Amino acid sequence: MYYTFSIYDTLSRTKKKFRPISGEKIRIFVCGPTVYDYSHIGHARTYVVFDAFAKYLWLKGFEVQYIQNITNIDDKIIDRAQKLNQDFFQLAKTFETEYRNDMENLGIDSVDKYAPATNYMAQIIDQIERLIEKQYAYETTDGIYYDISKFPQYGKLSGRTSEEAEDGVSRIDESVNKRNKGDFALWKFRKPEEPYWPSPWGDGRPGWHIEDTAITETEFGPQYDIHGSARDLIFPHHESEIAQMEAVSGKTPLVNYWMHTGFLTVNGERMSKSLGNFITIREFLKKHSKYALRLLILSSHYRSPIDYKESAIVQAESNISTVEQFYFAICKIKEGASYYDMHSKFAEKYRERFYSELDDDFNTPKALAVIFELIRDVNSLISDKKMGRGEAYSVSSFLNDANLILGIFDPKKRADIPAEIISLTNKREQLRKSRNWKDADKIRSEVEKMGYTIEDAESGPKVKPARKNRTPEN
Ligand SMILES: [Zn+2]
Repeated sequence: MYYTFSIYDTLSRTKKKFRPISGEKIRIFVCGPTVYDYSHIGHARTYVVFDAFAKYLWLKGFEVQYIQNITNIDDKIIDRAQKLNQDFFQLAKTFETEYRNDMENLGIDSVDKYAPATNYMAQIIDQIERLIEKQYAYETTDGIYYDISKFPQYGKLSGRTSEEAEDGVSRIDESVNKRNKGDFALWKFRKPEEPYWPSPWGDGRPGWHIEDTAITETEFGPQYDIHGSARDLIFPHHESEIAQMEAVSGKTPLVNYWMHTGFLTVNGERMSKSLGNFITIREFLKKHSKYALRLLILSSHYRSPIDYKESAIVQAESNISTVEQFYFAICKIKEGASYYDMHSKFAEKYRERFYSELDDDFNTPKALAVIFELIRDVNSLISDKKMGRGEAYSVSSFLNDANLILGIFDPKKRADIPAEIISLTNKREQLRKSRNWKDADKIRSEVEKMGYTIEDAESGPKVKPARKNRTPEN
């Protein structure tokens, strides 16, 4: 297999040519959600990026194994369940289901396996036992801890020294008897009213970081290709994953490429419950389409910050409608394409540029720019009547492939417009061209009565189902 793409690796702080760690398969792990609440559009950013990234690798012909964990045992879930006076397991299950629904509603369907932490309890315990045997871990009165002083490379991912690490971690796993302030919990002993599992050291539950390495060791082995997530998990989460797995296996590196997505702010501020600017995925989807969110996200490079604004979503929706109308116009022109038409190489130069932008550290904004350039170029050919069936065929296949990666428009939407409406629209266009405005207007109102609207644009008429009044869901 010939690998032609590069990605930026957070650990080496360089853009590196991709080489698989072993075999032909590309193994990707992305940190999944902690299921104690609804997911928001900041989460959506990371998951849309890796969904498009996995699909890009498929379309390039690579075999991909993409796994996400589900953190379904954690302090945050316990706190929420206690506050709501709900069963812990029930709460986690509810929000896991909500998460999976949100992902489906965003067109995210590239994950091969969602791995809930509680399904890997035996492997978690086994990994902790090996860390104790190798003297990287020790027992205190409240749990089993990782001794960061035994792993001198601690800090190599985040660039924090172990002293700085200590300050950062102290708020996460506070314990009276830790050897170093930065040591983190691998196993927390049972407290009253908390869920627990039996272990060789007593009843308790796992720490957060050990879940991921137990899952990835089980599914991929001690080393794999790509670990992705939002950048706020670099420290201490990913730093601790490296410390755990590299200590257990004696193999370096845990992963060849660390890919981290940038932050998403709302009107210039980070989302927080206290500011009341939290936008959940389900709320977003009540007002806008999944395509708008995907386009907004993919219009920025995955490592750059995104500032979410209502005006940016309005712009994204208008861009989607441009792509859709263009695609439908192209489909109309290619109708009845023959076998010979299908050999047109018209869109090849755009396709090559599209992929070469993605090959360069998954540069989706530049790849999108290639699509909009194609639309401009072809629209002017259409208006000069220089667009043939073969060329249109070539353009539509390219757009279909690009859309399998990006997921920014609905290619089937056109089928929702009945043939009768399309034929009336075409008839009206002929009347307009012959400047018969009166009859053209008559057809427009006829079409409107049938529940569709016609908008006249430079590239031709655009037909849409008329907007129905939305009734808010509760
Ligand atoms: Zn994780």
